[in-house]
Amino acid sequence: MALGGNGASYEVWPCTDCLPWHFEVVQADDGEVMVREWHAMECALFQQLIADQ
Ligand SMILES: [Zn+2]
Repeated sequence: MALGGNGASYEVWPCTDCLPWHFEVVQADDGEVMVREWHAMECALFQQLIADQ
């Protein structure tokens, strides 16, 4: 999946740890496209992601 005009791409793989996983493509006011991932609160991968920040 390639987003935006600069050829940048963002790969999103389904989370194997939780069912509610999905992603959202969000376009900011300045035109920047971001991908937001959603996980279950108790998802181990999600806990790992927020612990890394
Ligand atoms: Zn997850």
